[in-house]
Amino acid sequence: MQTLDELAEHIRRCTLCPLHNGRTHAVPGEGNPKSELMFIGEGPGKKEDELGRPFVGAAGKFLEQLLAAINLKREDVFITNVVKCRPPENRDPEPQEVETCTTHYLFAQIDAINPRLIITLGRHSMYRFLPDTFKISEVHGKPFRRHGKVYLPLYHPAVALYTGSMRSVLIADMKKIPAILKKIDSLPQAS
Ligand code: SF4
Repeated sequence: MQTLDELAEHIRRCTLCPLHNGRTHAVPGEGNPKSELMFIGEGPGKKEDELGRPFVGAAGKFLEQLLAAINLKREDVFITNVVKCRPPENRDPEPQEVETCTTHYLFAQIDAINPRLIITLGRHSMYRFLPDTFKISEVHGKPFRRHGKVYLPLYHPAVALYTGSMRSVLIADMKKIPAILKKIDSLPQAS
């Protein structure tokens, strides 16, 4: 099994999909390598591409507020994205880009960290792990066990920047995490 540092080195030099063409820095992810919580967003934005770090723009500030709602700091958890290089003009990542990046890197990061709960942020992250789910509006804040892992789909924090009413939805979903961790071993396979 590759370590997180080894994976990050591969990611920084990766040319496996077209997204490497426009990047300033690849963004492997960062945080506690032993965290029981792993947050997975969609892809780096402008600020993340400049700095090579995940969730450092406005959405990242809100993610830090969400973590504070359950008495955590960003360094307590591991934060990354389904694609590690910024899509041009912040477009959605193409399915093949998601497939390539997750197959080579994200799944290996999950193996290295072995989190108890994987929190997907936004639709692209959710559908990579829960392709059988329907709309995020119907399943956000509900845990799903699939193939030995437990996933919690949340809206992407950026939606709260455009739609203020989503702030309270995200905060409420985030506050469910401690209770989900307490009962996580008893969640049924198809919950
Ligand atoms: S997005 Fe992923 S697969 Fe594509 S170039 Fe970047 S690291 Fe490689």
